[in-house]
Amino acid sequence: MRVAVFSTKPYDRDFLTAANADGRHELALLEPRLSVETATLARGADAVCAFVNDDLGAPVLEQLAGAGVRVVALRSAGYNHVDVANAAKLGLIVVRVPEYSPYAVAEHSVGLMLALNRKIHRAHNRVREHNFALTGLLGFDLHGRTVGVVGTGKIGVCVARIMTGFGCRVLASDPYPNADALAAGVEYVPLETLLAQSHVVTLHCPLTPETHHLIDEERIRQMRPGVMLINTSRGALVDTRAVIKGLKNGRIGHLGLDVYEEETDLFFEDLSDQMLRDDDFSRLSTFPNVLITGHQAFFTEEALHNIAATTIANLTAVERDGPDGVTGPARVC
Ligand code: NAD
Repeated sequence: MRVAVFSTKPYDRDFLTAANADGRHELALLEPRLSVETATLARGADAVCAFVNDDLGAPVLEQLAGAGVRVVALRSAGYNHVDVANAAKLGLIVVRVPEYSPYAVAEHSVGLMLALNRKIHRAHNRVREHNFALTGLLGFDLHGRTVGVVGTGKIGVCVARIMTGFGCRVLASDPYPNADALAAGVEYVPLETLLAQSHVVTLHCPLTPETHHLIDEERIRQMRPGVMLINTSRGALVDTRAVIKGLKNGRIGHLGLDVYEEETDLFFEDLSDQMLRDDDFSRLSTFPNVLITGHQAFFTEEALHNIAATTIANLTAVERDGPDGVTGPARVC
């Protein structure tokens, strides 16, 4: 298949090229993000391969279908950025990587918890300046604390297992309780109970119309004062302005983010010589008790290997067996 691969970075090129070592697919490895302006780069391709911040809204899908593209291969699990109804209407086959390493995202989420709690990022800066004072670095034992996991799918279960290993009580909220989570000792409770009792709340549910701004002013009011909130799922699960307010009035004691509502124009790029125009992001960056990473929770060798391997396997299956080549969770529409 001729594949226009958008939003590629050197690491994507390395892993995709290795996964396609037999040269079965003709990969055009493109740097630009997929958008209305760049969709013309897919002309002549049978498939486009896209990442989380590529635009797969109706206008782009129409352009792609009009240019002869038949397949959209996502290098992600999440597909909230795809207008699925329109893709189906246009006859596009959309495939994804439903699982590549839940451990990568779970371990990064726990990394944020540990760094925030023990202020490792601040301690590192102090020690570099030969400031060995401990004032301001006081943390708490995670052992014995309550951690609330919102969404116990593949990643949430991994987080729950790690946290039970720390000696935490783990509460969970999910419309579909998971046997693995129950086996790990997780207690399912209504979201309100989870918010009221948890010292740490960590989000692992997908972004859908129902979960948009799941954490808003009202939910922040329901949380324990001084709660630690972690979001490595999708930025819009959290109402950024409400969280800023919660940080200012102390309701939120620590905030760890790997995703941000308006990350599309920021993340994955080196903007270090530019002025930031996003006032909410700038405000968030000023809090000493906020730690932000730029959508890197997935970024491990194992995950990149699996993303590339599944993406190439999806393309091969569709090429070989047609629209029914990919079924099950890897098939979006
Ligand atoms: P999954 O589909 O295995 O699990 C999601 C779980 O959320 C399911 O059990 C589902 O029932 C539950 N859920 C749905 N609506 C809910 C709600 N309103 N309240 C509570 N639970 C709800 O997905 P996963 O592989 O565990 O991934 C979770 C999310 O992590 C993805 O949707 C994606 O947005 C995000 N993610 C982020 C990164 C990153 O690099 N930061 C990487 C991969 C995935």
